[in-house]
Amino acid sequence: MDKRKVFEQVSDIESQIGELYEQLEELKGNLADLLEENYRMSMENKHLRSYLDKQEIKRVKVDEKENSKANLPGEGFDNLARIYEEGFHICHMQFGSPRQDGDCLFCLELFD
Ligand SMILES: [Zn+2]
Repeated sequence: MDKRKVFEQVSDIESQIGELYEQLEELKGNLADLLEENYRMSMENKHLRSYLDKQEIKRVKVDEKENSKANLPGEGFDNLARIYEEGFHICHMQFGSPRQDGDCLFCLELFD
């Protein structure tokens, strides 16, 4: 048995183990970076989701406001006009009482 050759083989294996150990350290570093990035992104995702939820709630509230603005005044006005046509006051002074002297100037003012 060539003692020198065995010694070289042991030395080779030793340096291979050294390289493997360096690679292992590098992989550990990459893994730590990945875990950190993953954590950061999941936090960011969480914040973005709650931001989107808040925006959605705001949007729904704005829609509700706009719907009530768009529908109610028109409907209310139509109802008042109908009540006036049927011969009742819609002015603040005599609201709901029968109009006995024809047109009421206070009521008509509301139509302008
Ligand atoms: Zn009136």
